[in-house]
Amino acid sequence: MLLYTHPACLAHDPGAGHPECPARLEAVLHAVRANFPLAPWREAPRASRDALLRVHTRDLVARVLDTPFDASLRLDEDTAMSPDSPEAALRAAGAGIAAVDAVMAGETRHAFCAVRPPGHHATGPVAMGFCLFNSIAVAAAHAVHAHGLERVAIIDFDVHHGNGSQDIFASDPRVMYASSHQYPLYPNSGLAHERGVGNVVNATLSPGTDGDAFRHAWRQHLLPQVDAFRPQLVLVSAGFDGHRLDPLADLMLEADDYRWLSAELAALADRHAGGRLVSMLEGGYSLAALRACSVAHLHGLAGATPA
Ligand SMILES: [Zn+2]
Repeated sequence: MLLYTHPACLAHDPGAGHPECPARLEAVLHAVRANFPLAPWREAPRASRDALLRVHTRDLVARVLDTPFDASLRLDEDTAMSPDSPEAALRAAGAGIAAVDAVMAGETRHAFCAVRPPGHHATGPVAMGFCLFNSIAVAAAHAVHAHGLERVAIIDFDVHHGNGSQDIFASDPRVMYASSHQYPLYPNSGLAHERGVGNVVNATLSPGTDGDAFRHAWRQHLLPQVDAFRPQLVLVSAGFDGHRLDPLADLMLEADDYRWLSAELAALADRHAGGRLVSMLEGGYSLAALRACSVAHLHGLAGATPA
């Protein structure tokens, strides 16, 4: 397993009291370092503008990277930048690109990008929902364009629907998007009838959903469709805000539910993708849950057998 991060990802500050705070990433970094002391870390490089422009408009890339501002720049009612944010956004997207390159080169089977800001709400033209660039979409487009892959799966278990990821690839059959998410909840998309060109699969979860129902949705509905797609690379939008302690959502998941799904995803990658799997941190707003779930996620990827 390879781990990617960058100090700029800790410096991005969307404002006092914002739930998407630097302490989130500090919690993940501390927990992963304590539990996987031998795993190697790499500094995330910057994504190139060309890599960003595969999924984002020129206007959005310029707005995030080139807008002059002093202390804070507000992009929507809950998405804001500090002076370090452009660098953080470049490094978060660059982590995914570097991780894809590493697994494609056979340097490792699994890579985890401990980065922020998150990305899966950002659409081609719009930064939203705490997200500046859609890092997992940039990684998927890089896998398609730079490595020539024909089937890349994005698995999104963040409690929110990754509307940006779905939107970016809804007409591109080379990229599958599979998500479970609470509904209703921001951004209130991701209904079952949203199928793209047959490459999108959504499972909505009611407030209060527990681990048994979460596992059932993946085992019976989502995982079989990803299996049928036979991805050559598995990308994971790893948000841990479905945990019962999360302050922004209402699911009742435990860390072991993330371990279970992660082991299933590693097994799926083994079946179809030579084991190649890249995971990127998305949401998760309870520090205790982030600590427990990020470790459970990596334990699951590392081969703990699903119970
Ligand atoms: Zn989320």
